[in-house]
Amino acid sequence: MGMKVLLIGSGGREHALAWKLAQSPLLETLYAAPGNPGIAECATLISLDIDDHAAVAAFCKANGVTFVVVGPEAPLVAGMADELRAADIDVFGPSAAAAQLEGSKGFTKDLCAKYDIPTGAYQRFTDAAAAKAYVEREGAPIVIKADGLAAGKGVTVAMTLGEALAAVDDCFDGAFGAAGAEVVVEAFLDGEEASFFCLCDGANALPLASAQDHKRVGDGDTGPNTGGMGAYSPAPVMTPDMVARTMKEIIEPTIRGMAADGHAFQGVLFAGLMITAKGPELIEYNVRFGDPECQVLMMRLESDLLPILHAAATGRLDTVSASWRDAAALTVVMASKGYPGAYEKNTPIRALPADDAVSKVFHAGTALKDGQLVATGGRVLNVTAVAPTVAEAQKAAYQALDRVEWDNGFCRRDIGWRAIAREKA
Ligand code: AMP
Repeated sequence: MGMKVLLIGSGGREHALAWKLAQSPLLETLYAAPGNPGIAECATLISLDIDDHAAVAAFCKANGVTFVVVGPEAPLVAGMADELRAADIDVFGPSAAAAQLEGSKGFTKDLCAKYDIPTGAYQRFTDAAAAKAYVEREGAPIVIKADGLAAGKGVTVAMTLGEALAAVDDCFDGAFGAAGAEVVVEAFLDGEEASFFCLCDGANALPLASAQDHKRVGDGDTGPNTGGMGAYSPAPVMTPDMVARTMKEIIEPTIRGMAADGHAFQGVLFAGLMITAKGPELIEYNVRFGDPECQVLMMRLESDLLPILHAAATGRLDTVSASWRDAAALTVVMASKGYPGAYEKNTPIRALPADDAVSKVFHAGTALKDGQLVATGGRVLNVTAVAPTVAEAQKAAYQALDRVEWDNGFCRRDIGWRAIAREKA
């Protein structure tokens, strides 16, 4: 008998996870809550209030679900994994204590300081005057961060002193709510950014793959920050040597330190890195897969995802391995016009390209209304392709994307530009 698994979440990331999990020969039934119309093609959607952890546990017990995979960070920070584990359900995802690696930037910076993990010099503040005095002493460029979860919006990379002081005021004036009650001021790191993903089981780490995302809304990395407008994997800057250094200097001391401090980390460790002249430095941790980075990782993953996630959840990561297609995957996010500002909801998506061996459309903010697929979110579709090079993956992704019939959608047209320039060189 196969496993019954529940996947928590409703974005493009969860559609990619559902798509991979559904291919596992070890799976009996995949449930998803709340899911979306794309996830519904590979899982049974159930209506559950995912903030009600006791209800989630009760559903699992009633339906023979023995394994829960948590996609987004909010339920983890809120302690979903703790409550499910207390009910004897295996969970992929960290405890609330371990999720502080994402939930509190100050927590992570203190861990780095304690265990000698390379990251920018910093100080934590709960008071604007002290933070401003420090900013004035250090000078610009400098980085101001709200301590808590601010949906990716709590960070200001200030190129001038004026911008930095204004960002300190914004945080303490409540621009990010409770997340800004504490502020981390951090040295500016210069280099190329990369995302690096590992699985952890509390004691062991299994490196997965690297990716690069595109945070700005406009071509040429212009305009406001977003949740991510596209990504590709692997990140060329993450050479085998850089991966080895990242494991040794950043990931492994983090796993050891978290265990030593009494909150062993289990789940995905997503390291936001700056590759500086000195080597990899940690910008931040996330405790879940990136969205849309997960989509490109899943397109490249050859191994069965289910036993790997389950091994991480049950302390057996040393018994599994992951193999990857030696190819590039690239995803382009289609968003509602106006995003990341205000946008119209429930606009019709009249046609999507059929998936094939090269390209696949993952759903993020979509819904079915009276049989019509509509866009309900800011980021709506992730058109993803895999090919031998980033340039070919980009071409295939945009070819598929140009067959999407959705008047209110837009996308960047230059996803992958940095890697493609490198391929050309
Ligand atoms: P975070 O939410 O911490 O990932 O920060 C958002 C973005 O701000 C990062 O992806 C970087 O582009 C930038 N950033 C954060 N911290 C630094 C830093 N210390 N130096 C330079 N850029 C940074």
